[in-house]
Amino acid sequence: MSTSRLELVRSSFERKALEVEAPAGPASAYFGELVFDRAKMRKYLEPNVLKALLSCIEGGEALDRQTADGVARGMKEWALEHHVTHVTHWFQPLTEGTAEKHDSLIDYDGKGGVIEKFEGKDLAQQEPDASSFPNGGIRATFEARGYTAWDPTSPVFIEGDTLCIPTVFISYTGEALDYKTPLKKSLRAISDAATPICRLFDPSVTKVSTFLGWEQEYFLVDEALYAARPDLMITGRTLMGHMSSKNQQLDDHYFGAIPSRVNAFMRELEIAGLRLGIPIKTRHNEVAPNQFELAPIFGEANLANDQNQILMNLMNTIARKHRFVVLLHEKPFEGINGSGKHNNWSLGTDTGVNLLAPGKDDAGNLQFITFFVNVLAAVQKHNALLKASIASATNAHRLGGNEAPPAIISSFLGRTMTEVLRKLVDLPSDTPITIAGKKGKRVGLVEIPEIFLDNTDRNRTSPFAFTGNRFEFRAVGSSANCAGALTTLNAAVADQLNAFKRALDGEIASGKSLQVAVMDTLKPIIRSILDVVCFDGNGYSAEWVEEARRRGLDTETRVPEMIREFTAPESVAMFARTGVFTEKELVARNEVKWETYSKKIQIESRVMARMAINHVVPAAFEYKSRLLKELALHKEVFGTTDGCEAELQLVRQINDLVEKIRVQVDAMQVARSQANAITDEYGKARAYYDIAEAINALRRPIDRLEELVDNRLWPLPKYRELLFIS
Ligand code: ADP
Ligand code: MG
Repeated sequence: MSTSRLELVRSSFERKALEVEAPAGPASAYFGELVFDRAKMRKYLEPNVLKALLSCIEGGEALDRQTADGVARGMKEWALEHHVTHVTHWFQPLTEGTAEKHDSLIDYDGKGGVIEKFEGKDLAQQEPDASSFPNGGIRATFEARGYTAWDPTSPVFIEGDTLCIPTVFISYTGEALDYKTPLKKSLRAISDAATPICRLFDPSVTKVSTFLGWEQEYFLVDEALYAARPDLMITGRTLMGHMSSKNQQLDDHYFGAIPSRVNAFMRELEIAGLRLGIPIKTRHNEVAPNQFELAPIFGEANLANDQNQILMNLMNTIARKHRFVVLLHEKPFEGINGSGKHNNWSLGTDTGVNLLAPGKDDAGNLQFITFFVNVLAAVQKHNALLKASIASATNAHRLGGNEAPPAIISSFLGRTMTEVLRKLVDLPSDTPITIAGKKGKRVGLVEIPEIFLDNTDRNRTSPFAFTGNRFEFRAVGSSANCAGALTTLNAAVADQLNAFKRALDGEIASGKSLQVAVMDTLKPIIRSILDVVCFDGNGYSAEWVEEARRRGLDTETRVPEMIREFTAPESVAMFARTGVFTEKELVARNEVKWETYSKKIQIESRVMARMAINHVVPAAFEYKSRLLKELALHKEVFGTTDGCEAELQLVRQINDLVEKIRVQVDAMQVARSQANAITDEYGKARAYYDIAEAINALRRPIDRLEELVDNRLWPLPKYRELLFIS
């Protein structure tokens, strides 16, 4: 027996907030209790094992077998205290999302019983039967062997009854099959490139870390309404749906009071996150109705990214308890804001200096300018590649949409930094770069404020914005693994820093002071970035597309084309120089990207066609037949259909729209079988790009029918119901 849409809506509307059971004590009392962190290491590991493990974490050395056994012993003791029964290697394959294969801890004890067993080898390496993970031809199924290996820089954690070990996932021939491996290589590349430059300013620097602070946007939808929308369930977004009369035009949701049912969900999510050591800090409503955001305090990039992956999983499970479904899709609803995942990104030394924040003295400011300018130079040189790094079938709906960063990578600096750069190119290279206000207002100096106060003019339309002490890569999609974007950004910046250092060494060798050598090297770079990549205007305007093209920035909007940038000769050379990807890996990963793109659109196209034929057309016919019965009745009583223009016109409109739907569904099916016959992944993705356009076109007659058909007959929850019930 089926429930009508209106009954579903009523029961969803009446749902009450759940009581959330909070652990005793303040957050600091349970923060990280489910993570095998430094405190647990000290408690559960023997001193020599602890020492070996820490040097492995800090120095990046491999874990020897004896140490691994010692670590496993301590972990097992801790895990059993938490009633753990299973263990899994937890990894991030190219599917987006995480993978795990749980094994019980039990083993025969040799005396007819069982014991809990967990040894160094279980910790260090596993071979998941991973032939079905995407690998782009690196591992044909006959040699379907890849292995996972513990990444000791990311701590082991407990989820439910399972001990989760964060791992990299690599083929037996050494190619990365995941997101984590290249991310870690890029972090090393940044450190290796940045450290020698920092040492010119402070010889005690030995390492540079990358920091990530992600902001996760998402939508919540009541689960009963969700279950009545096959498109949401299967593709994560609404393929049809007429815009609600009220959407976000009143801006009354943004930073408004959080509804109590949502608040209960957030509270439980935060508690679960905090117990897993995720320092969740911010929660608020976003711009669109039923859209929210959550952000932790930033941290070391590899760990912060793992935490984002853990949190996305937690969101899904905890939302279900509260009878919500989380939508992580970049554009679940047409006509209102999509969801992104701003990646706040910065670099810092092991001496505690943020390289993207103004310095504490003139030298510190020179160092800041050095890194600031080189980051922008890297973004400029590899703007097309950075765009490729965030391109996906789902993010495509957000890029270039008029409420999201456009499909052009440029950078917003703000008034202060733009002026600083202009002055730097005009003034002599030995001009001190001082802290504003420190020496009184003086001409002939370049002044940088210690803290930026003009962040209020922060430009929301920029995909890569400077925000005072970090850059914010805003074009990253809400469902994406941040590592895709970060790996590319880090590699590009590392490569640029290496090139800069070589040029700088030449200037220093010619006898110039550090300041003059740095500024002489930077000046031509600054001129170029001011002309090309720096743009503080309205990124959503049509003029910007023209202007960007004139400046030589990439303006491609088709995802299959964008992705090609990964295998362009400059990209291949850059990734090879920095040791982040081999050409073989890049080729394979592109195959995976195109394949994923095609599959996603293929699924959308099928769902769209079935919904059109099985949901929409029958509702239209039912309404039409009512209208026809009414007309027949009218004729019976009055002997004419004169005066029934409204009914007649509706019938004609319905016929017309249904016919459009029929023709378009048929055409889409033909296009699909043609696309499916294409064997190379790039060609197939190109064909599916056209089908994506056809899906958008098919939506029009469907949405028009939604406007016409009797509300009681419409089978699918409408936008106003999906977006305003919480
Ligand atoms: P917004 O106005 O963009 O929402 P927030 O103050 O909420 O700004 O900060 C967004 C994110 O930026 C947070 O996750 C925060 O921890 C992170 N962040 C702050 N400083 C840095 C930094 N130096 N490096 C990286 N991330 C940072
Ligand atoms: Mg932000």
